[in-house]
Amino acid sequence: MRGAVLYGPRDIRFEERATPTIRESTDAVIRISATCVCGSDLWPYRGVNPITQPTPMGHEYCGVVEEVGRDVTRVRPGQFVIGSFFASDNTCPNCHAGYQSSCQHKQFVGDAQAPLLRVPLADGTLVPTREVPSEDMIPSLLTLSDVMGTGWFAADAAGVKPGATVVVVGDGAVGLLGVLSASQMGAERIIAMSRHESRQKLAREFGATEIVAERGEKAVARIRDLTNGIGADSVLECVGTPESMAQAVGSARAGGSVGYVGVPHSVTLDGEKLFYKHVHLHGGPAPVRRFLPELIDLVWNGKMNPGRVFDLVLPLDQVAEGYRAMDERRAVKALLRP
Ligand SMILES: [Zn+2]
Repeated sequence: MRGAVLYGPRDIRFEERATPTIRESTDAVIRISATCVCGSDLWPYRGVNPITQPTPMGHEYCGVVEEVGRDVTRVRPGQFVIGSFFASDNTCPNCHAGYQSSCQHKQFVGDAQAPLLRVPLADGTLVPTREVPSEDMIPSLLTLSDVMGTGWFAADAAGVKPGATVVVVGDGAVGLLGVLSASQMGAERIIAMSRHESRQKLAREFGATEIVAERGEKAVARIRDLTNGIGADSVLECVGTPESMAQAVGSARAGGSVGYVGVPHSVTLDGEKLFYKHVHLHGGPAPVRRFLPELIDLVWNGKMNPGRVFDLVLPLDQVAEGYRAMDERRAVKALLRP
């Protein structure tokens, strides 16, 4: 089979790779229905995270089970399944606490931009849908594998409640789906920070009630203006830079919460500032597995359509164009079809 391999900065190739097989008795092999390019794939693509050897890419996936190992009992060939970028046993204490992305036996699933994928710990990792979905539902189901699950975790970690005032920092796919998540959770005001017209429009479609185009201290001042000097109850930080984190903490009210899911790059926090601000911070790699059953139901029952975040659909062999388009911000998120 052929799949995506990153060789170095902006050098992604679609080339021959070993076909995945069952290696452990707890594995499954799935045939990918759709995969996509993640904002976090752009860190190594841009050379921010160094690439030391050719690296298979892709960690967002859904598809049909082809084969399972002899100890797999909860999923079977022919089922349509969705899993997270971290395989987890779903039985250890960390999984039971709802933090499957800190599973004691977690394994990164990092080669999903390919037609076939081996998924370890299949029973704990994969969640089947009630039947094989129609084609039009697949983009939305695919988002649950990471980007929507991550936006949902940002809102969950920020303690979004009905009636809340929410600020979302970041207008990438995660931020936009953070807006959708806050809306689903009943937030009354959702202020999306974005400078790009097309993204502002999508943010509004997903439930944003106001847009703030300023950045940095000006953005924080604008949030103060909009909230009678108080700040937001919940802030979703979906970027991972020092500027975005400062903007998020600055936008929260006293006693407010910041849910941060942007992978931090050079982010440091000022302990004294946090101390006097009474701000809650909670974040990390999203425990997507915790949310999958609920999010699958919401999509299946037509309550939300997160697949609208894909504004570029390409055949998998054009994966390099998907990366380029996202790198140049010509696309919010690229869906790839094997
Ligand atoms: Zn576990």
